[in-house]
Amino acid sequence: MPNLTLPGLVDVHTHLRVPGGEHKEDFATGTAAALAGGITTILAMPNTTPPLTTPDILRETRQKAQRAIYCDVGLFAGASPTEIERLPQLAPHVMALKIYLNDTFGPLRVEDLPTLMACFQMWPRTKLIAMHAEGQSVAVGIGLAAAYQRPVHFCHISRKVEIELIAAAKRRGLPITCEVTPHHLFLTEADAARLGPLADMRPKLATLADVEALWGHLETTIDCIATDHAPHTLAEKQSPHPPPGVAGLETSLPLMLTAVAEKRLNLERLIELMATQPRRIFKLPTQPETQVEVDRQVRYTLSNTGLQTKCGWSPFAGMMVTGRVQRVILRAVEVYADGQVTAKVGNGKVIP
Ligand SMILES: [Zn+2]
Repeated sequence: MPNLTLPGLVDVHTHLRVPGGEHKEDFATGTAAALAGGITTILAMPNTTPPLTTPDILRETRQKAQRAIYCDVGLFAGASPTEIERLPQLAPHVMALKIYLNDTFGPLRVEDLPTLMACFQMWPRTKLIAMHAEGQSVAVGIGLAAAYQRPVHFCHISRKVEIELIAAAKRRGLPITCEVTPHHLFLTEADAARLGPLADMRPKLATLADVEALWGHLETTIDCIATDHAPHTLAEKQSPHPPPGVAGLETSLPLMLTAVAEKRLNLERLIELMATQPRRIFKLPTQPETQVEVDRQVRYTLSNTGLQTKCGWSPFAGMMVTGRVQRVILRAVEVYADGQVTAKVGNGKVIP
């Protein structure tokens, strides 16, 4: 029996691998994994092959999504130095712009100041700019938010110095927000040493002091939890050049509910971090008659079997958690129950 009902959760940072990486994940398996994690709206990242940097590729990707998705999906446009002039034409197709200032999976990157300034000048003010910024790149993002007086969202903040800088900037009233991932809250560099490529992602796992700093800012500076669900096949992870990234859609809520059970977080704050605030920051449409039914008492071990994600493995396998999604209702229709997706294909909406 469910003993907790949550609103439909939001994940503003997923990699659904369409186009070009469909052997790792696709719109159907990625949105099925979202529902299994109690997530009914996801925003998909643009570092695909080819990347989501032109109106044509965005139009085509939206059509592919509409035929396959089980929950609501919005896309990010990617900032590419060769396509800056066309940024305003991308905006109607997406929820936000993503700028990569640091190395990650794929070639999308903006490394020079003139291009960064052009992004801030060209991108419509009605839509958010999100940044992959690590270390001193966070200061660059804060500087741009201040100079152009517009909101900037920092993805997957993972280090003590970064969260402290963001806290200082917020105290000055700058219009910035940030997310953290469950893997940066629940794993450290010791897990990276233990798991090797299976716990390699960008930003890399950090020290215990970094992890403790993130927990210390969870009630204050941190605006939302995002998974950075970035699936790769086991064969790719075991290859001589393993790509960075781990799956996260199905484990995010159980991990955060475990923190609630252990009194490291209260339930009201979990709902703010995983539903209310990401929806507000990215101006996502509401989903009427939508809810997630949870057994918040059940204790079990996370496993690689029975996952909806196509990659079929999790860096959290073997961890004991408390809390499991039982049923998901999206717009008054049951879409997930007892480990199975019950939605019709294409049931989700592409937003906006
Ligand atoms: Zn990412």
